[in-house]
Amino acid sequence: MLEVHNYIGGSWQRPAGEAGVEVINPATGELLARSPAGAAGDVAAAVEAAAAAFPDWRAVPAGERIQYLFRFKQLLEEHFEEIARLVTVENGKTLAESRGELRRGVENVEVACGIPLMMQGYNLEDIARGVDEIMFRQPLGVVAAITPFNFPAMIPLWFLPYAIACGNTFILKPSERVPLAMARIFELLEQTGLPRGVVSLVNGGKPAVDALLDHPAVPAISFVGSSAVARYIYARAAAGGKRVQCQGGAKNHVVVLPDADRETATQIISDSAFGCAGQRCLAVSVAVTVGEAREWFRDTITGVAGSLKVGSGLEAGVQMGPVITRASQERIEGFIGQGLGDGANPVLDGRAARIAGCERGTFVGPTVLDGVPASSALTETEIFGPVLSLIHAQSVDEAMAIIARSSYGNAASIFTSDGAAARKFRNQVPTGNVGVNIGVAAPMAYFPFSGWKGSFFGALHAQGRDAIEFYTDKKVVVERWPKDWSRRF
Ligand code: NAD
Repeated sequence: MLEVHNYIGGSWQRPAGEAGVEVINPATGELLARSPAGAAGDVAAAVEAAAAAFPDWRAVPAGERIQYLFRFKQLLEEHFEEIARLVTVENGKTLAESRGELRRGVENVEVACGIPLMMQGYNLEDIARGVDEIMFRQPLGVVAAITPFNFPAMIPLWFLPYAIACGNTFILKPSERVPLAMARIFELLEQTGLPRGVVSLVNGGKPAVDALLDHPAVPAISFVGSSAVARYIYARAAAGGKRVQCQGGAKNHVVVLPDADRETATQIISDSAFGCAGQRCLAVSVAVTVGEAREWFRDTITGVAGSLKVGSGLEAGVQMGPVITRASQERIEGFIGQGLGDGANPVLDGRAARIAGCERGTFVGPTVLDGVPASSALTETEIFGPVLSLIHAQSVDEAMAIIARSSYGNAASIFTSDGAAARKFRNQVPTGNVGVNIGVAAPMAYFPFSGWKGSFFGALHAQGRDAIEFYTDKKVVVERWPKDWSRRF
């Protein structure tokens, strides 16, 4: 069994403190590794190394800093299949899904290579007679990110490339459930020749997180995970005077209008609800059918979902893998039972899924619950599993009112061929990411990942220009020079 190590100050180190959670292949139940619980001493060592590396790193010209990212991108391409496979083994998603997330991660490395342009400030000559004003962007220092289990390779890459390209030094605390892909990616970062301490990897759970949140030499924290933890991290880091961006959980709705293209809508919504076993923060969880879309959508989605091949993500032809842990499986099955208790009709019930050859895996089959009452916990609670609840509305306005009641605001989509309805939806729906005939409205690397309401705590989002704003401080210089300067020498 592998022991997960930390990468601190340019060397691989055995973590201090106690052992933490077991890393388990969710398709097979095989024990892959053991994560450390996380120790404040390891965090302190990583911060010390990152702080020591910062003065020299920020002085490296931006055009030179990105040369390391070009090498990093090249190494990621060369090891693409190997990393995708690791993601599938530790997370459970299919190989196609792992390739997809890694591609999205690599795109962030590519975008961060534009830092010499993106990090530029601005200036104005003669704001008063003989006085000029200049705005520079400067890096913050040691910055840290804390990331979730569902995108082991992609989500850390929403932060790392921008942070170091801007001249910061960076510490990652990945999810303790899926530490293996990032360990391999840090081996590749080591091969780029980055100076010691520019990037560090500290494994563990809450003790490592708390040590980062409380460390006075870490001025900025990025977080992605559940809303309860996002709230906690936002409050604790802000109390320490840090800038914080916390992306939280989600409860995403899709509205299906009667004029939607039936086949396309059903395929796309099925991929959104059941892809990655429903463990995407942009996954559709509630479908609101409008008018006569109710019957046909219920029938088509049930047919498509029921025909999905569930199994080990490494196996060719498999379309949906397991959920991350036994506890997750039990929690999701509990929600399904609760929905039925509330009066929902189980048109497709994925509980007690048994997969030949993967008997120890933690599988929940695709589940479709029709007629979920508005009062049911299923309509508001994040389930984070392959469960689609169907509810019905008489109009787009009623559907949008249902969405507006949610405490989350990560994403919402509409399926229609009516441009006016789509435009109204796009304009008024209170979520940060919106899809029009799109099931997973995932922003590209050069756009911000914009959750709203209880799905996000902070002001600046991940990726693109927001990342540059987050990882730099603005400095304004106002200057005047004596008129007779040239005559004095
Ligand atoms: P999680 O909140 O359990 O864990 C996320 C990170 O926080 C991990 O690194 C974990 O070690 C740490 N953590 C967990 N509990 C903690 C505590 N009590 N104190 C301090 N640190 C703690 O999330 P998860 O289960 O790994 O991931 C799934 C969640 O992430 C879902 O809610 C999903 O919607 C959300 N998510 C959101 C986005 C987004 O962009 N909004 C993207 C991906 C995932």
